[in-house]
Amino acid sequence: MREQHYYEEPYLREYDSRVAEVTEKGLVLETTIAYAEGGGQPGDRGCINGVPFTNTIHEGEHILHLMDASSFSKGDEVRIVLDWKHRYEYMQQHTAQHLLSGLMFSKFGIGTLAVHQGEDILTIETDREDIPEETLYQIEDEANRAICENHRVYYLELSHTAAEALGMRRSIKVEGDVRVVVIEDVDRIACGGIHTGTTGEIGEISYAGAEQIRGHVRTIWRTADRARNERRANAQTIKELSKQLSSPREGLVSSVSALSEQISNLKYQLVRMEKSIAESTLAKGEKVFLSAVPLSSYQDITVDRSYAALYQNGDKLNWLVRTENPEVFRNFRAHFAQVGAKGGGRGPLYQGSASLEKLDELRNLLGELIDG
Ligand SMILES: [Zn+2]
Repeated sequence: MREQHYYEEPYLREYDSRVAEVTEKGLVLETTIAYAEGGGQPGDRGCINGVPFTNTIHEGEHILHLMDASSFSKGDEVRIVLDWKHRYEYMQQHTAQHLLSGLMFSKFGIGTLAVHQGEDILTIETDREDIPEETLYQIEDEANRAICENHRVYYLELSHTAAEALGMRRSIKVEGDVRVVVIEDVDRIACGGIHTGTTGEIGEISYAGAEQIRGHVRTIWRTADRARNERRANAQTIKELSKQLSSPREGLVSSVSALSEQISNLKYQLVRMEKSIAESTLAKGEKVFLSAVPLSSYQDITVDRSYAALYQNGDKLNWLVRTENPEVFRNFRAHFAQVGAKGGGRGPLYQGSASLEKLDELRNLLGELIDG
């Protein structure tokens, strides 16, 4: 009997075995149904006699269940229970990956360079620099058709030579006998992972985008529950946006464009109004004053006298000093610590912030310095 009992019975969720070895990192069982991380598929998790294991990995010749194994001894009879939701989702995702890679190759001549099965998305890095989006949607159609057609998925245990003779889309990486996974009429490839028994069990595959990586196109997909959850989240977002913008889905993009143009126009008008307020304020001729508009409004206004403007920006205080006499700013800086100020600039404009509590003190100080 081989240690990987998951190959014999991939749908087994619970299983009785015996402890073969106890290590610092966890347990090795005589035989196990927990899949060990590999081929882009994460390892299983679950419980052994009620004690949780968080991952399953290959360790030397054996399969190690990562866990606190301090309560176990060699020879103990144990019951292993898998986190089935986790395992089954990856069986679906892994089968989806073969289906997609197989169809990409047979129908479009696109090769697969690398794959990753994630918590949310499945990615397939292709050998192409560019793939038209239309082609990716065609692949999505083909994949969902193959799901409806419910092709059988099965395994062949072959000698290396016999496997090579099958002529698969990728060269065989392992030595010795080869395990070939076959999606009837669609794909066959050497693989040590676990898959569903039929393509129908994948449920659905949805195309989720493409990105550039290492000069190639990496395609992104969602399968089964993840595809459905994403679709629901998108529908909720659209529903909420439609409500807020009082627009049907078809009009959302133009509504957002119109809104963004409106905002740009308003910002432009606001800047002009603020500048006009700044000009009126300066026209009053005060040396030190509290400004009603942000100090950036004063920057482009030419005045041939010294003044200091203060602006309360939330819980902060901003200051702006205009003077042709660099002595004024030098003297001001000498008092920075006293009024909690910082900042700088190049004449005639100097700017910075100060402590809001020191407003009156700052006002008096700037009044004296500018007078002087
Ligand atoms: Zn596989």
